[in-house]
Amino acid sequence: MTAQLIDGNALSKQLRADVARRAAALRARGITPGLAVVLVGENPASQVYVRNKVKACEDSGLHSVLEKYPATLSEADLLARVDALNKDPAIHGILVQLPLPAHIDAHKVIEAISPAKDVDGFHVASAGALMVGQPGFWPCTPYGCMKMLESIHYDLKGKHAVVIGRSNIVGKPMALMLLQKNATVTICHSATKDLKAMTLQADVIVAAVGKRNVLTADMVKPGAVVLDVGMNRNDEGKLCGDVDFDGVKEVAGYITPVPGGVGPMTITMLLVNTLEAAERG
Ligand code: NAP
Repeated sequence: MTAQLIDGNALSKQLRADVARRAAALRARGITPGLAVVLVGENPASQVYVRNKVKACEDSGLHSVLEKYPATLSEADLLARVDALNKDPAIHGILVQLPLPAHIDAHKVIEAISPAKDVDGFHVASAGALMVGQPGFWPCTPYGCMKMLESIHYDLKGKHAVVIGRSNIVGKPMALMLLQKNATVTICHSATKDLKAMTLQADVIVAAVGKRNVLTADMVKPGAVVLDVGMNRNDEGKLCGDVDFDGVKEVAGYITPVPGGVGPMTITMLLVNTLEAAERG
């Protein structure tokens, strides 16, 4: 069996076209959706991420502001910037790129963002809203995974979903979203005793670990849907996921590639969240 590919670039293109249409409609009413991206320090990966986010905004007709600060910026000064952005009517979404330098308490900074502008969905209020099924911003990466499942018209009701990884930004919110769609959800992590025994039962597997080949073909039930969130480098320095793509694609029903899978969807959902923040006014 050869799995069907869920193409994150193609799906992103569709969704971003819709964002651009809705942004144009808002602009016609005098509102330009605005995202502020705050980067502290010189982390090379973060610099690439923020550049991609700002470019995606520009391409979709959203206004974006990139604020770059040296790694020496004090926590108090960063909190003051977040406060100013909270009050800025031209800004509908605020994203503080993580990781932050060690002297800054990232949790404190995220909690300082107004929940109405928390387009990354990392604020405790956003996490709580997801937990109790109330409206709020969903974290972009698991939200993108849900859109990928929606794109193949996958009905999660009664299906067994196994999420590998329990981070606050991917694994845990992913599990809650799948649960909300009536899947039976198992969350695995580094202390899980027999990962293969869990994944072999799964109709849907989401791998969000950050280690190559965490999921291999012998761990996948034939026909399962496999979503690969991981971003790693292989021996040749090329981007790869957590899933042994070449092996697993022979067993799975659907699979997401890396690159070109969940990655572009994450940025797309940031645009969607920013647009929705502006629409909510
Ligand atoms: P994280 O905070 O490091 O969490 C990794 C999770 O994997 C933890 O819950 C950890 O368990 C678990 N784990 C580690 N080794 C394991 C093993 N051998 N078996 C089962 N579980 C194991 O990472 P994250 O922020 O969630 O990100 C995960 C991956 O996704 C990374 O590669 C990251 O770069 C990527 N990512 C991609 C996107 C995208 O847009 N594509 C966005 C965000 C993240 P414990 O909790 O027990 O330590």
